[in-house]
Amino acid sequence: NLPTETAEAPVTERTLVLVKPDGVRRGLSGEILRRIEAKGYTLRAVRLLDATPALLHKHYAEHEGKPFFEPLVEFMMSGPVLAVVAEGEGVIPGFRSLAGATNPTEAAPGTIRGDLGRDWGTAVVQNLVHGSDSPESATREISLWFPEL
Ligand code: GDP
Ligand code: MG
Repeated sequence: NLPTETAEAPVTERTLVLVKPDGVRRGLSGEILRRIEAKGYTLRAVRLLDATPALLHKHYAEHEGKPFFEPLVEFMMSGPVLAVVAEGEGVIPGFRSLAGATNPTEAAPGTIRGDLGRDWGTAVVQNLVHGSDSPESATREISLWFPEL
């Protein structure tokens, strides 16, 4: 059979998506997964869990020492997180585009953060989702959240 336009290439890119506690709390997990699937990416693994300080310190190691680091870790422990491995060609930058800018006030309409997020006046930016920012980050983060994969 000839490949079709929608067929997956053999080497498939993966990214780590987190629906942060604000997204889970507000009942937006389904809407966020829907947008990932509607874009054409595949859900490879999904897990709802309470993140530990050790996991979050590793996950956010690049931000250690910044003023928002401790509030960020506290926020990420304020409720369950939905961890997702999404798969597809270009999914790492593609999900970052779907997510929109870090600050939900500045995120463009049409994006997850732009459509569904806002400034709540809290110490940390509550912006619904995390997405890996490079292939190296994706590999590292997937091994943290899904050690069995
Ligand atoms: P992301 O990759 O778009 O999620 O952004 P970063 O990796 O730069 O930051 C990680 C997370 O820390 C963000 O998603 C926000 O929740 C939070 N954050 C980032 N920058 C700031 C900031 O300047 N102030 C505050 N309060 N929180 C921030
Ligand atoms: Mg980041």
